[in-house]
Amino acid sequence: MDHKPSRQLPSPSAAMMTWEPHVNKCSRCNREREDNGRLCLKCRETKRTQQAQARKSRSPGLCYRCGARDSLPQTRHCARCMSYLRERTLPHLEHDLEAHALLMTLSCDPQARCQVTGRSLLALRKVGQRLSVDRQDSTRGYVDGNMQLMALDLNSAKGAGQSVPQRAVHLLLTKLAQVKDDRLSLVPGATHQD
Ligand SMILES: [Zn+2]
Ligand SMILES: [Zn+2]
Repeated sequence: MDHKPSRQLPSPSAAMMTWEPHVNKCSRCNREREDNGRLCLKCRETKRTQQAQARKSRSPGLCYRCGARDSLPQTRHCARCMSYLRERTLPHLEHDLEAHALLMTLSCDPQARCQVTGRSLLALRKVGQRLSVDRQDSTRGYVDGNMQLMALDLNSAKGAGQSVPQRAVHLLLTKLAQVKDDRLSLVPGATHQD
């Protein structure tokens, strides 16, 4: 049983006969590649250089994905692409990209407020927070009526749950208690639900 001829390794010439050309070839130059990557080492190096050049030639403020002129502060993407990339991680849910992008844009407005703490982005930034778009009902997607702005730490603490753990809220409120100069938290009209 162990020494059945058909189970033996093929001789070198037999191996050549069953050679599948696409398996060990670089998908770019079609030369034989050195390891299990998709590209050969030379093409990989070329690709890396090209990517670096493309990155350099892009001016700051342009979206890396679509080239739009309005990339969000401290990101490399515009609101639409940011929303799209987020939605792509939840392909089983239904999303409204335009509404999502709108709220994503608003999340960078210093006047926008966290719906849990009521504090403005201006105040949140002073404790190292930013605003994120939360899906109120985690089983539903980024659609109108299911989105709100929330401090990132709270959103992370909520995770896939249905509410923010009180402990996380308390922790953030303690930090925020030290932020006195926060005129924007009292400004109405900055939140999504107004
Ligand atoms: Zn190659
Ligand atoms: Zn974009």
